[in-house]
Amino acid sequence: MQQDNIDILIIGAGIVGLATAAILTESGRKVLVVDRQGVCEGTSSGNAGALAFSDILPMASKGVLAKVPGWLMDPLGPFTICPSYLPKLLPWLYRFWRASSAGMLELTVQAQGAMMRLAEPEMLGLMQRAGIGHMIREDGSLELYESENELNASLPGWSARKAAGIIFEHLRGNQLRACQPGLSPRFIAGTFVPGWKTVTDPKQVGQGLWDYAQRNGAVFEKGEVSSISANGPGVIAQFTDGQTVLAGKVVIAAGAWSHRLAQNLGDRIPLETERGYNTTLPVGAFDLKRQLIFSGHGFVVTPLETGIRVGGAVELGGLDLPPNYKRAEVMLRKAEQFLPGLQSKGGRQWMGYRPSTPDSLPVIGRSHSTDKVLYAFGHGHLGLTQSAVTARLINDLIGGHMPSIPIDPYSPKRFRS
Ligand SMILES: Cc1cc2nc3c(=O)[nH]c(=O)nc-3n(C[C@H](O)[C@H](O)[C@H](O)COP(=O)(O)OP(=O)(O)OC[C@H]3O[C@@H](n4cnc5c(N)ncnc54)[C@H](O)[C@@H]3O)c2cc1C
Repeated sequence: MQQDNIDILIIGAGIVGLATAAILTESGRKVLVVDRQGVCEGTSSGNAGALAFSDILPMASKGVLAKVPGWLMDPLGPFTICPSYLPKLLPWLYRFWRASSAGMLELTVQAQGAMMRLAEPEMLGLMQRAGIGHMIREDGSLELYESENELNASLPGWSARKAAGIIFEHLRGNQLRACQPGLSPRFIAGTFVPGWKTVTDPKQVGQGLWDYAQRNGAVFEKGEVSSISANGPGVIAQFTDGQTVLAGKVVIAAGAWSHRLAQNLGDRIPLETERGYNTTLPVGAFDLKRQLIFSGHGFVVTPLETGIRVGGAVELGGLDLPPNYKRAEVMLRKAEQFLPGLQSKGGRQWMGYRPSTPDSLPVIGRSHSTDKVLYAFGHGHLGLTQSAVTARLINDLIGGHMPSIPIDPYSPKRFRS
């Protein structure tokens, strides 16, 4: 790897690393991005494409936890724990359970709300500057309920969103059917969120941000970093092929694998992966007006320029177990029932690794052992949505500016107790 005078080395060319490269190069910094795959080829390439700025409730919120026991009864259900992985998962699950206490939840919702208020202008602004503003779809989202009980159970969550200034409308009857024609009659109500945005395709967005960063001078190299150490004037990244790179600063944006690199520096971050699945059907598989959210079943259906994407689910099974694509099939079969007329043939299945912390907040801040290594990972279900705001905060830290919002809630230090 022939690279010298690197100001900043970014490990990971997922959406977080790419947005960070885009924003850091705007101020003329010399940036090298490395990834063992290509640009935006992993989890960031195949997600559901939502810019979910109103999604401020953590996974450990009461509404989700109440559904988990029922879901766990179903081995292919929306939330699964792979039995062989359970022993490794217990410490994370304990923290997840603690994150659901009323006091912690309130702090988390506030912190997530603060991120999201900045996430929206940062993401929309970055996409405009990068020349990919046309990739934003402003159709809103529609969350659907099959019973009065299900609707009622969702109301506390909607109250919390209302308090955070998020606009929504509960719909029934003709209003509901007009919002999405062709829905199964099993849905008795829905909530329309007009401010919810999606993108034409998340891989296109990643590639578009990279093209912009590259125009600003960023360079990409393929390679796998095996360790990092901060010595003397900079940080040395060691690659599995034996090469090294010396950089002034390193940003770890390696998604669900980031904690392995942080461990080199003595930081123990409880990062797990919530594996998720989907099937992308050909363009025209259904006349979908906007993203539909079936939260009782843990999946969404999204209209993309590249097809109709049906997917979601959470599988806690670590980084090494093989994918179980039956999960993608189960969601597709349900989608056929929910959207009669869906052309469900010819789909492409996919699995991705959400990088997830127990409190659903990302890890943004400096390593405790050196201020030359910064962390930008752990965005769970929201990495696309929060990529540009994360990049802005990393830019603030690197530039020595006061962060645009207080960053203590996202600090890696919160896990040290
Ligand atoms: C089914 C599903 C649906 C989702 N839907 C949405 C959505 O609608 N909206 C939303 O905001 N988010 C969504 N997400 C979450 C989102 O996809 C993730 O939060 C986001 O992609 C994480 O981005 P990242 O850049 O942190 O990680 P990644 O995309 O995983 O990128 C990390 C990169 O680091 C590289 N890497 C790792 N270790 C090393 C190493 N040692 N050396 C070199 N390279 C390395 C990997 O190859 C990878 O390319 C969804 C996720 C799933 C699974």
